[in-house]
Amino acid sequence: MKILILPGDGIGPEIVGQAVRILERFKTEGVPIELEHGLLGGAAYDAHGHPYPEVTRQQAHAADAIVLGCVGGPRYDTLPRALRPEQGLLAIRKDLSLFANLRPALLYPELAAASSLKPEIVAGLDVLIIRELTGDIYFGQPRGRRQNAAGEDEGFDTMHYARSEIERIAHIGFKSAMRRGRRLCSVDKANVLDTSILWREVVTEVGRLYPEVALSHMYVDNAAMQLVRAPKQFDVVVTGNLFGDILSDEASMLAGSIGMLPSASLDARNKGLYEPIHGSAPDIAGQDAANPIATILSLAMMMRYSFDRDDLARRIEAAVRHALARGIRTRDIALPGEGVVGTQAMGDALLSALSA
Ligand code: NAD
Repeated sequence: MKILILPGDGIGPEIVGQAVRILERFKTEGVPIELEHGLLGGAAYDAHGHPYPEVTRQQAHAADAIVLGCVGGPRYDTLPRALRPEQGLLAIRKDLSLFANLRPALLYPELAAASSLKPEIVAGLDVLIIRELTGDIYFGQPRGRRQNAAGEDEGFDTMHYARSEIERIAHIGFKSAMRRGRRLCSVDKANVLDTSILWREVVTEVGRLYPEVALSHMYVDNAAMQLVRAPKQFDVVVTGNLFGDILSDEASMLAGSIGMLPSASLDARNKGLYEPIHGSAPDIAGQDAANPIATILSLAMMMRYSFDRDDLARRIEAAVRHALARGIRTRDIALPGEGVVGTQAMGDALLSALSA
């Protein structure tokens, strides 16, 4: 397991430091882990003048999987757009052809009160949203601004998906469903959009190869509503880039704190970039106040998706559950009046739960 560690900026080094402790522990147990460290985002700009420098590019291509903290910070906000930390993130995703973005939204029973929905609606929530990441209206040509026939300014974009792009994300959807509850809901807007009509046809065709998975289809407006009405009806959801952008953010809020939510971005051969969904939290950077759990749950996804080590993924997830059950809370997941621990102490609790 050649793993590249990219701590990034802000709270990145603090939270990734806790993830590295877990990888080091696995290593001492004989798991064949090789760690390499590199720079991305503002840290890379400081050292090399670019947010995704050539040296990082080479490390990224040589690795089997990458663990990223987060990038960005006020210091870099005045840089030209091409040199900003976030461009490093877009560049590495594109360079590695990471077309599948997986975001689980899982609500631990102990944190049900932190969700914006009523506990009885969200307790036990466990949904995986899969978003296609490299196609759709975000990349379609032509796009731009022009004058229409009436001489009025208009903006325009082009939505399109090729059969092969739909097929490969559909396979990820069905394979993920096979690992979980064997239910896949494909979300589109086939009542209005031609792109969606093809999407629905192709997903249905791919579904014939996975007879054990129950496939359903839902229009995106209904899916947005169902996610807040009865989110537990979903197991795995697969959708395009635009709809997935919106639905994955909506689903993440159901699970309470942003500090709890991991993500994976995969290529066609399960090489992946694993990162928390939150940003670099400059307001708490360097204060030992960040929650490392989203990053540590990203490690669990890495073990499952890139290395097929469900056993290690389950151990990490069990350690998180164990620490939460013991009442260990960082500030972002504590209710008023509950005691809180820092980043390092949460890491200690997870490490000791790992061996428990
Ligand atoms: P943010 O996610 O960094 O922070 C939002 C709020 O959540 C803050 O109050 C922060 O303290 C809190 N928070 C975030 N992660 C936390 C954690 N692990 N534990 C406890 N609290 C946590 O979003 P923002 O403030 O809008 O952005 C800050 C910087 O991060 C910007 O430069 C932005 O561009 C960048 N950003 C990077 C990524 C990424 O690296 N993937 C994603 C989003 C934003």
